[in-house]
Formats: sequence, C-alpha cells, structure tokens
Amino acid sequence: MKLHNYLATPPKMGPLNLLIMQSTGFCNFACTYCYLTKESRAQRGRMSMDVVEETFKNLFGSKIPHDQFTVVWHAGEPLAAGIPFYEKAFELIERLRPDYCKISHSFQTNGSLIDQKWCDFIKKWAVSVGLSVDGPKQLHDLHRIDKIGEGSFNRAEQAMDLLRSNGIPFSSIAVVTKATLDNPHPFIDYFTTKSFSTTAFNIEETEGFNIKSSLECDKGSERFRDFIRAYYLQAKASGTRVREFRATEQTILHPIKRTSSQSIPMTLINVAMNGDYSTFSPELLTMESRNYGSFVFGNVIKDRFDDIWKNENFQHVYADIQAGIRVCHKTCDYFEFCGGGHPSNKFSENGSFNSAETMHCRLLKKDMLMVIAQAIQAERDAQSEVIHAK
Ligand code: SF4
Repeated sequence: MKLHNYLATPPKMGPLNLLIMQSTGFCNFACTYCYLTKESRAQRGRMSMDVVEETFKNLFGSKIPHDQFTVVWHAGEPLAAGIPFYEKAFELIERLRPDYCKISHSFQTNGSLIDQKWCDFIKKWAVSVGLSVDGPKQLHDLHRIDKIGEGSFNRAEQAMDLLRSNGIPFSSIAVVTKATLDNPHPFIDYFTTKSFSTTAFNIEETEGFNIKSSLECDKGSERFRDFIRAYYLQAKASGTRVREFRATEQTILHPIKRTSSQSIPMTLINVAMNGDYSTFSPELLTMESRNYGSFVFGNVIKDRFDDIWKNENFQHVYADIQAGIRVCHKTCDYFEFCGGGHPSNKFSENGSFNSAETMHCRLLKKDMLMVIAQAIQAERDAQSEVIHAK
C-alpha cells in the first residue's frame, strides 16, 4: 500500500527555466561552507553521453520545456569534466534541440581551471560564466580553500584576468558569511570597484553538509541589515548592478502576486552524473531524510519527466511544500513579496517543508526588503524636499 497518495492528476509543472546538469561530482576545492559531502566532491568520473542524450530526449518528449531554458553545468566543479566532454555534449544537445526551443549554456565555476583553451571554447559556444568569488583575498581565502587548505583567491584573479583579456563577460557570485559582516567594507569596496557583468551574492546557508551557518550568530539580522544598507547605497552611488538589489527593487516598485518558483515542480530540474533527477530546489538532489526518504524522483534512462508526479516521495514532498506555502500565507506579512520561500531551506532549517520562516528568508527576503524599501523612501523624500525648496 502506498503511504502518500495525494495526487490523482498531475499538478501544474514547469515550464522549465533551469536545467542543472552535474557533468561531474568532482570538485578540486573544499570550501568550508559547501553543502555537498566530502565523498560527493571526491567522486571521479563524468556524466556519460547516454545520460546527456536521454535527458534531452526525455525533456523534448515531454510538455515541460517551452520556448527557452538555461542549462547550468554545476554541482561539482564543472570544468573538471574537460573540454572534450562539453564538445560532445553540446553538439549532441544541439542535434536533439527542436527549432522552437532556445537553450543557453552556463558554467558556475570556481575558475581555477580556466585557461586559454577554455576561453576559446566559451567564446565558440557563447557560454555564460558565473565565477565564485567572495570578495578580496582576506575574505575569499577564509572559506574558498583547496583540498590542502590553501586559499584560492589568486587563482580566481588569474581566471578573471584571462576572461577579461579575452573579452568574455562574466558575473561574480559571492557568499556572505559572518566574516563579511564583521568587516563589510573590504567586500563592498571590492564589488563596487571591480568590473563584472553582474554581481550577485548569496548567504552562507544552513544546508546539507553545512549543518550550521556562521550567520546564525548574535544580532545576525541587525548586522546583516547594516551590511545591506551600506552595500546598497555604495552600489547605487557607483552604478554597480547587484542582482539581489535589482530583484528586490522590482519586487517593491512593481508589486504583483508572487509565487515561489521553487515550489512549482519542473521549473527547475537537477540531473546527477548518473542520471538521477530531482526538482524544486537544486540542493535536494544530494540530500535525504528519514521522514521523506530520497529526493531523487527518477532516473532519466527509465523514468519520464512527465511522470514525476506519480512518484510516491515526490507526492509527499509536493504536498508538504504546498502546506508550507499555506503556513507562510497565514503567518507572514511578506508573503505577497515572497510567495513562500525556498523548500530546501525550510527542510534544512526546520526539518520539514511544511513550515514557514527560515534564517534564509529572514535575511534575504525580509531584512533586504525592509532596508531597500527604506532607502527608496528616503530617496523619494529627499527628492520631494528639493522640489518644494525650488
Ligand atoms: S519571507 Fe519567509 S515566512 Fe515569509 S513568505 Fe517568504 S518564506 Fe514564508
């Protein structure tokens, strides 16, 4: 007898926005806040072409993709899979891609393996590059270390120099930790003076193997708000485009009813090196729990993406995610701006998808909205004072 039989018909699924492909689980770094286990990061080998082929045949035989989506090669150091892997994979995907659907490829990389050959490949295929960099050396090297414990800042800088000299635009993504809040100005100065096509940041999350974020500290929220206030004002003054600030401004200036994209199945699909797949939040693929079991809901070789909703574990997770959104709706003043948050953070922090507030949403949603709304209001007040004074 099935334990969880919640759905008689498929829920709304997709359209696919992000397909995360783990070309290799291997990573040459050992960043202290990584949510992956040591064992997972030590996996040698790479995804087979059969898995690549079946993923795209499965997708294009389904109703899940619409006219475009992005393939992010990630969850390990993607460049460790090597150029010959991507040459074959990209050609194969291009052969399988129907005319109605555009695909863009993206690497989320630590940059340490980027050389001239990679630059040539990136240009040839117009791949977007997201580089992980946590700010200046003293911050970056605290957490972004290799397997012998050495800081990786110099390698990230070399990669940036090479990308720039090849005219390849790239975005930076930083992880904000307690060390950033302890001394925020070097971080802020770094990202408001260096040139990136976009600058983005995340916070150190309590997730997976990283069982406690350093941001779960005394006065964490208060200090985070101070950091955001200073960074936001300096970014505005310097014309720096920070992804999170722009998204928050859009939320404030153009209020529409929001849904949490990670609560809709198959808008994000995560495919592991062996073809196992998951959905909702990217981090779930590598996690499991006593309550929910595995978050692997199928394998591309034998299970159709369209049929994911028939998987018993999927049904349990889906039902709890929807229940968690209802709790958010009832209890949170920010619901209209948020739509119900990220399932993986609810699971990692609260032990259940059927829950509401997390440190992740408190900092990145509530605190950030509050600070930026205040800054926008202060700017409007200053402008109206100038108009009245004329
Ligand atoms: S801010 Fe947090 S508590 Fe509020 S709706 Fe979003 S996830 Fe739920």
